[in-house]
Amino acid sequence: MRQHNKAIILRRPDAVLFDTDNTLYDYSYANKTGEQAVRKKARNLLGIEEEKFWKLYLQAREEIKLQLGATASSHSRLLYYQRVIELLGLRAHLLIALDLEQTFWRTFLANAPLFSDVKSTLNLLRSYKVPIAIVTDLTAHIQLRKLTYFGLEDIFDAVVTSEEVGIDKPDIRNFQLVMKKLKVCTTKNIWMIGDNPYTDIYGAKEFGAVTFQKLHKGVTLGKEKELPDYSFRNFSEVYKLILNVFKE
Ligand SMILES: [Mg+2]
Repeated sequence: MRQHNKAIILRRPDAVLFDTDNTLYDYSYANKTGEQAVRKKARNLLGIEEEKFWKLYLQAREEIKLQLGATASSHSRLLYYQRVIELLGLRAHLLIALDLEQTFWRTFLANAPLFSDVKSTLNLLRSYKVPIAIVTDLTAHIQLRKLTYFGLEDIFDAVVTSEEVGIDKPDIRNFQLVMKKLKVCTTKNIWMIGDNPYTDIYGAKEFGAVTFQKLHKGVTLGKEKELPDYSFRNFSEVYKLILNVFKE
C-alpha cells in the first residue's frame, strides 16, 4: 500500500465504495476473450472475416458512444452488435445481434475470476459493520448479473449503476445516490476503491472521499487531480490496512 497524500490520517470509514470492472477482477483479459469469441461466432454465423468484423465493430462502437455520450447504454454490447449488423447491410437481423451479445457476456463471465482477497476484504468490512456498496458504470442488467456470477449478490448494502443515474462517473450524482441508498449523511470519511484515475479517483475526490487506486497490468497511477490518496496492487494490502485502522 502506497500513500500518495501524506496529509491523510485514516480513520474508520463510515462506508466503503467499490467500482466493479477492473477493480474486483481483471477486465482486460475477460474482455479480450469475449471479443475473440464474438469474432469467431460472427464468422460462423455471417461468414464475415474476423478482421472485417473487428473494423466494423470499432466503427459501430464509436458511433454509439458519440450518439449516447457518457451514459450507461453507451457501453452496451447489444447496441454495438446491432449497429454492426446494420453496417453490414443486413437490415434488422435481431437474433444475430442478441446471439453475439450472449456469446460475449457468457465468455466474458467465464473468464473473469475475482482478484484474490476481494471476498475476504468485503467480509472483513462486514464483520466491522461498515456499509459497503458498488458504484459502477454500465447498465443494471449486466452489472447485477456480474455480481451474481461472482457470488457477491447479497454481500453489498447498496448497488448503484450509471443506468439509474442517467450519466456515468465521475458525475457526482453517482456518489450522491449511493450515499442516499446507504442512508449515510457524511461525505468526509468515505473510502472509494477503483481502478480508473478519472471516473473513480477524480470523481470520488471531488465528492470528498478518501481514494484508493487498484493497480495491475494496464492500469497506470493517476496524476495531479487524478492522483489517488493511496494505491495498491493486491487486496491483501487493503485487508491489512482495515485490520490496522480497526485495531487503533
Ligand atoms: Mg473500473
